[in-house]
Amino acid sequence: MGGSVERALGVHRVLEPRDVLPQAALRLDAEPAVGPDEVRIAVQRLNLDAASFRQLSESCHGDGDAVRAAVLEIVASRGKMQNPVTGSGGMLIGVVDAVGPESPLGLAVGQRVATLVSLTLTPLRITDGLTGWDGRSEQVPATGTAILFARSIAAVLPDDLPDPVSLAVLDVCGAPAATARVVARTGARSVAVLGAAGKSGCLSLAAARAAGASQLTGLVRDDAEAAALRATGLADRVVVADATDPLAVAAAVGAPADLTVVCVDVAGAEHGAVLATADGGTVVFFSMATSFSAAALGAEGMAADVTMLVGNGYTPGHAALALDLYRRTPGVRALIDPRVHL
Ligand code: NAP
Repeated sequence: MGGSVERALGVHRVLEPRDVLPQAALRLDAEPAVGPDEVRIAVQRLNLDAASFRQLSESCHGDGDAVRAAVLEIVASRGKMQNPVTGSGGMLIGVVDAVGPESPLGLAVGQRVATLVSLTLTPLRITDGLTGWDGRSEQVPATGTAILFARSIAAVLPDDLPDPVSLAVLDVCGAPAATARVVARTGARSVAVLGAAGKSGCLSLAAARAAGASQLTGLVRDDAEAAALRATGLADRVVVADATDPLAVAAAVGAPADLTVVCVDVAGAEHGAVLATADGGTVVFFSMATSFSAAALGAEGMAADVTMLVGNGYTPGHAALALDLYRRTPGVRALIDPRVHL
């Protein structure tokens, strides 16, 4: 790699081990002084990704103080917020407070932005001990600094939406974008979404509809979520099953779908997703709790001819698409707003 490419990707901030990209690093240099092509954000709020927050919360038995201590320890020791168990991160919002003279990002001091690159590769320093957070929500009020590289992406926060909503929607904006892209490219008509009443799930349903899919099945965990999802009209059919029980998922979904989108925040949904998908169909694994081996070997073991896609958090235009779906879809707002404690 040429030196400028390495810098653009943030390799100069990797402390350990050498010669990996920041996402794979154990430890980053989170020093707040910016290099010539970097941008510093004064952090206001983190959004821990759902799989990471669930894992932390469960391992601390719901003790908020212990969750807070665990997050502080991870950030202090790694120079970034990357859950060592799930490997996942989240993203953050804040105010641009320094821009290196050679930064190509087009950001200006004072702009309010959301980072659209994962916390797993963002140098982060927290200076307030997270005293404003009770450790019981994915969103974390925080003070500190974060660094963007030349290849990082960020979105200027919209003025018409509350920041917690923008943060929640932008965190999962890769899911509706991936769904829309697969529907458009493959002509999928039937779509099943596992975890359909969650943030990425409801946005994926709305994206599938907007892209032309016509038979939408939303799979949810229990009757309460089923009632909430039915009330929105986002899905044509709402079914209840444990996404980690493959036979239950297959029975609940019924006729296999052209596209299945996995939006749960728990491990073990791979086999149900494959069984729920028609031969020649596609599975998008957006969940960070997905196991590559379980998906690949499970599909092989079922002789399932399905295309399996890793839900890339980045697709061109993904932020605008997700914010637009939120703004114009009352059902999406009805499901997301209660989750961000407005
Ligand atoms: P969310 O809002 O918490 O939604 C997850 C949904 O799955 C919830 O409705 C949850 O129900 C449901 N669920 C959990 N266990 C279930 C089960 N066994 N059976 C059926 N439903 C179940 O989460 P999110 O923010 O949309 O995130 C979803 C996933 O995407 C997470 O794994 C997250 O880490 C991942 N993610 C990926 C990327 C990427 O770039 N690929 C980016 C951000 C997030 P309850 O609420 O009742 O628990």
